Amino acid sequence: MSADPLLQEVLAGWDGEAVMTRYDRQTGSWFFVAVHDTTLGTPNGGTRMRVYDHAAAGLEDAIRLAEGMTRKWAVLGLPFGGGKAVLAVPQWPEGDNREGLLLRYGGFLETLAGSFQTGVDLGTTPEDMLLIGRVTRNVHGVDFETGRMIDPGPFTARGVLRGIEAALEAVDGDPTLEGRSVLVQGVGDVGEPLAGLLAERGARVLLSDLDVERAVRVAGELGAEVVPPSEVVGRACDVYAPCAVGGVLTRETIPRLACRIVAGSANAQLGEPGDADRLHARGVLYAPDYVVNGGGAAAFGLLSLGERDEERIREQVDGIGETLRSIFGAAAEGGGTPVAAADRRVAEALARGREPSAAARVRAR
Ligand code: NAD
Repeated sequence: MSADPLLQEVLAGWDGEAVMTRYDRQTGSWFFVAVHDTTLGTPNGGTRMRVYDHAAAGLEDAIRLAEGMTRKWAVLGLPFGGGKAVLAVPQWPEGDNREGLLLRYGGFLETLAGSFQTGVDLGTTPEDMLLIGRVTRNVHGVDFETGRMIDPGPFTARGVLRGIEAALEAVDGDPTLEGRSVLVQGVGDVGEPLAGLLAERGARVLLSDLDVERAVRVAGELGAEVVPPSEVVGRACDVYAPCAVGGVLTRETIPRLACRIVAGSANAQLGEPGDADRLHARGVLYAPDYVVNGGGAAAFGLLSLGERDEERIREQVDGIGETLRSIFGAAAEGGGTPVAAADRRVAEALARGREPSAAARVRAR
C-alpha cells in the first residue's frame, strides 16, 4: 500500500480536531487515530483493523467513525470526546506478524500519553486489547488486576434490545416482543446475543449471516429461521436489525424494505443523509444507529471511569431505551425524522459542554 497523496485531501476537507498517525514499516500498515471533538472529554473509541484499497480510505473511515463517537458519547451523556483508530493493513496479518503489529500499535498509543483511549471494533478482539494492554494502559475492555477480558457485544446487544422495545412502543403502543418477528442480519459478537435475548422474550427470530454455518448453528440453538443474505432486504418482518455491515439503507434498498422498524447495531447504516427522510416517507421507524448501538460504549465508558457496580452499568445500557423513547417522541411532535431529533440532542449537549462552567462540570465527573 502506498502513501497515497489523497491523505492530504481527506485531512483538508475535515473539520475534526486532529489526526495522529504512524506508518508501520514492518507490515506496510498505517495507524490512524482521529480525534473529532474533545468538548465533552478525552477521546475514546474503538480500534478497527481492515484491509483498504488505499491508506486514504482507512483515514476516511477513521474520521467518519470518530464523528460517530462524538455523537454517541453526547447522547449517552458520558464525559468522553469523539475519537477512533484505524489500522489500515495491506493484508490480513497472522500469528507473530499480527502480534508484532499490535504491540507496536500499543507503543504508539503509549506515546499519545492518555490523549486517546481505545477498545475493540471490527477486526480487533478482546484478546488483542489484552495484548496491547501489555504496553499501554490506554485500552479498555481489560481488567488489569485480573487480566480478564470483557466483551462489549452482549452490552451492545442489550442496548439494541431496549431500542427495539422502544420502537415497538412508538409504533404500536406496546413494547412486548412476544410474537413479533425480528430479522437479525449478522450473528456475530452483537447479533448472536441479540438473537438470544429476542428468542428468550418470545420473538419470532429470523437470522442471516454470510457465514452460513454460523447462521445455521445459531438458528438451531434458538429455534430461529435462517434467511439467505440476498433475501434480507425484501423479507417481511416487524423489525429489521442490521448487525453486520453499514450502508444497508440506501435509495435502492429502502423502497424494497418490508418491515416497520429498523433498529440494529451496525454503524453507519444510512448510505447518505437523505436516506433518513426516505425511511420516514415510507413509514419505517428508524432508530438512529449511533443511539441504539451505544450499549458497549456505555458499559466500557463507565468501566473506564472506575464504575464496577454491574447494576449501575446495566441501568446505563438500559437507558438507551428511554433515550430513544424521547427521540421518537420529539420526532413525532416536530414531524421530523428520529435522526434529525437525535442530531439536535447532540448539538445541544455539545453547546452545553462549550459553556465554560458546564465543560468544567462534565470533566470533573
Ligand atoms: P462481528 O464481526 O462479530 O459480526 C458480524 C457478522 O456479520 C459476522 O458473523 C459476519 O459473517 C456477518 N456479515 C458480514 N456481512 C454480512 C452480510 N452482508 N449479511 C449477513 N451477515 C454478514 O461484528 P460485531 O462486533 O457483531 O458488530 C456488528 C456491527 O455492529 C458492526 O457494524 C459494528 O461496527 C457494530 N457495532 C458493534 C459493537 C460491539 O459491541 N461489537 C458496538 C457498536 C457497533
